[in-house]
Amino acid sequence: MEKTTNNATVAPRGRFAPSPSGRMHLGNIYTALVSWLSVRAAGGKWILRIEDLDPFRSKPEYARLIEEDLGRLGLDWDEGGINGKGMESPCMQSLRHHLYADASRRLADAGLTYGCRCRRAEILATQAPHQSDGRIVYSGKCRPCPEPPFPRKEAEGTATRLYVPDIEIGYSDRMAGYVSFNLAKECGDFVIRRTDGAWAYQLAVVADDHDMGITEVVRGCDLLLSGAQQKYLYGLLGATPPEFAHLPLICNENGQRLSKRDKSLGLDELFSRHNPEEIIGMTAHLAGITERAEPCQPKDLIAQFDWKSLRRGNAIIVDAEGRFCRTEVFS
Ligand code: GLU
Repeated sequence: MEKTTNNATVAPRGRFAPSPSGRMHLGNIYTALVSWLSVRAAGGKWILRIEDLDPFRSKPEYARLIEEDLGRLGLDWDEGGINGKGMESPCMQSLRHHLYADASRRLADAGLTYGCRCRRAEILATQAPHQSDGRIVYSGKCRPCPEPPFPRKEAEGTATRLYVPDIEIGYSDRMAGYVSFNLAKECGDFVIRRTDGAWAYQLAVVADDHDMGITEVVRGCDLLLSGAQQKYLYGLLGATPPEFAHLPLICNENGQRLSKRDKSLGLDELFSRHNPEEIIGMTAHLAGITERAEPCQPKDLIAQFDWKSLRRGNAIIVDAEGRFCRTEVFS
């Protein structure tokens, strides 16, 4: 699965980008395992980036726990993390604001951004917009004129929004196949910086993935629309987007994406009942990598990893013990 760019063969670079707002659960481990195996099977590099953009939700102790848990499970990273292994500085978004400021300035220079005083949607902007959070389509109310270029005007107390055109933006997803979205209808002009100065997820993730030379992004399928927003941003910044793979979400028996409320599937509880090999075995079976949930280490799975064998659909439903129940496809 090596990629060829400009006639040179490059090994893939994947990343895991958790937000340190709580301890990880089975759903996070599933994303991490698939992403790790994909690059390991192709001889690539795996990078750990701590997405602590939101100063109110992010806690350093969770970042430490993320590292401890990944280490305990045998999901080792080649670059990044709190100590910035192989990098000039710790791989935490809170320390990378200069990159986001630079990208934002380029978009402003192109006349594509404007200040917005509407409050509701921008609050959510630092977080990846998982669909269960609810989606808000922005009306374009604060646009200074109907179409860009917008005048360059820094105004106090405004969020910065990026213009989106009324056209389809599509991409081929490794799991979902070809998908296409009209951003004007799905989300409208989106926030790239909040009023309080916090950088938004969409801008930061593109600036970071580009800066780190990421070639493949593996995450939950509730971020399929974000793939189109990010592809649009890559185009504006003159960069090549990575390949996207949006996995089914691990959901509880009520069909809800796992979260802190599913205590029994958080790593606090899982580690109290299982050893690391059992957790990896359960996760590999949920993903469709193995036929049975037998204890193993991630490295035991490298040789057999194959994207084609993974379970598909929008959701993988698990019971309170983390056992596979069924897959679901939402219409
Ligand atoms: N920090 C984001 C999250 O935890 C990462 C999403 C992504 O991988 O792009 O949902």
